[in-house]
Amino acid sequence: MTQARESGVGRVWIVGAGPGDPGLNTVAGLAAVRAADVVLFDRLSSRELLDECRADALRIDVGKAVGDAATQERIHVLLVEHARAGRRVVRLHGGDAFVFGRGAEELAALSAAGVPATVIPGVTSAVAAAEAAGIPVTARGVAASFAVVTGREAAGAMARVDWDRLALAADTLVVLMGVERLAAIADAIAGGGREASTPCAVVEAATTSRQRVVRGTLGTIATAAAAAGVGPPAVLVVGAVVAVGEQLGALRGGLAGRRMLVTRAVGQAAGLAAALRAEGALPVLAPALRIEAAWDAHAIAVALARLRGDAYAWLAFASEQGVEHWWEALAACELDTRALAGVRVCAIGRTTAYALAQRGVRADLLPDEGSAAGVAAALLAACERGASVLLPGAAEQRPELGALLRAGGASVEELAVYRTLVATEADAALLAEARTGLDAVTFASPSAVRGLVGLLGGDVGALRGALIACIGPTTAEAAREAGLAADVVAAEPSVEGLVAALRDAFSARGAGAEPEFVQSLRAEAGGTR
Ligand code: SAH
Repeated sequence: MTQARESGVGRVWIVGAGPGDPGLNTVAGLAAVRAADVVLFDRLSSRELLDECRADALRIDVGKAVGDAATQERIHVLLVEHARAGRRVVRLHGGDAFVFGRGAEELAALSAAGVPATVIPGVTSAVAAAEAAGIPVTARGVAASFAVVTGREAAGAMARVDWDRLALAADTLVVLMGVERLAAIADAIAGGGREASTPCAVVEAATTSRQRVVRGTLGTIATAAAAAGVGPPAVLVVGAVVAVGEQLGALRGGLAGRRMLVTRAVGQAAGLAAALRAEGALPVLAPALRIEAAWDAHAIAVALARLRGDAYAWLAFASEQGVEHWWEALAACELDTRALAGVRVCAIGRTTAYALAQRGVRADLLPDEGSAAGVAAALLAACERGASVLLPGAAEQRPELGALLRAGGASVEELAVYRTLVATEADAALLAEARTGLDAVTFASPSAVRGLVGLLGGDVGALRGALIACIGPTTAEAAREAGLAADVVAAEPSVEGLVAALRDAFSARGAGAEPEFVQSLRAEAGGTR
């Protein structure tokens, strides 16, 4: 485990890690996590953030029964003990540690024990959950105040929240920890004088891939949320700003808040997930296939010997996995990029070219058209007749490219370096959890289509309502054969191309009129100018 530091007492960082998306943790919070010897986390902490810990850091799950006094007491003991042993200790909180968190109690316990502590503020769900659903907690001319309330007190006799006073005290009400008592809370707010027609929204698991939004009014929201099966963590937002959010949403279009299934294999999905997140979309990871190395040492040795003997004019890679596993095979033979010597290299697709560039290889040829015919034509044009082409790729490589090259007079060797396997039961469980309420399903290869259809047991109807988005024509064809007509096909077969095509598809849907509240602001400004 971690070594004790020599400088005596360590320190505790009480970190507000944001509402869920690891991108909404602060830079200071991330630095603390990366430097930590010990991290205490609970069920609201994101996996991806925990992955930022040092490999030798001790991770302690304190989340089994957050809220009970014994657990909280144990947390104080752990914080103090680890810090006294000279360690850097991070206590992660969801949102902000001081907003219905126990951050203040922890700080008090640490001060009492003489342990130095630093509090790092976080992005609270009290604001961010509404915002992730496109709802501003204040809006000029609509809401000049907001109140954040606990919904936990609404049920019992110890009604510490004075709903009668609160209902009209702020324009926007944000209720945390109230999703299990929505009916009682809505009644209490209405009883305090808010109209039953007041717009409401419940935002579940905001900023995570499980985010869902249910809308209604004070009179209907409890029933609507129950019908949708909404559960914690969720916030209730009450007030006219919810309607403003709807107007903004119609205007905003684009990918913001859209749940998109990413079917790429583990290890391949990160690039697409990051590109989607960068546009505000919520990638839902459900690997529909698995990739594993599948090179045969003897076949690789033979190919390398031929490469050294200048037997190949071209080395062509059709995918980044091909690149990755070819270099893995080289490394296993204690070789590196220099083994390529003078061979010319063709990259099919920009993503593949990028994977090559990362290994210091500039592709000599990047065919404009990604189809087998396009690639074959470009390669043949660049080849002497009878030239030899090596194609390191999937064990189950599609035969078209090789066949077209051979027909054009080239001599072709397909070399298996990786293999695509069908997904497992664990993947099926992930998909079962993820498949409702999807806005789009993305496919980056024909094998991903087949994998997903397999995971669904052939029931492609389960994806009804989601846009089917494919990286290129071959993938779209595979989708069509599986009974999933592609709504979106990327103009250029790359992650960027796929995201661009999705962006176009959704902004076409989202175009709308200027929101009323913006119009009224304009009118107001016009009057005073
Ligand atoms: N300190 C946290 C709040 C802790 S209380 C913060 O500042 O956000 C726990 C409550 O926070 C949950 O019951 C829920 O109401 C809300 N919450 C936390 N994360 C949320 C999320 N991602 N989406 C919606 N609500 C969330």
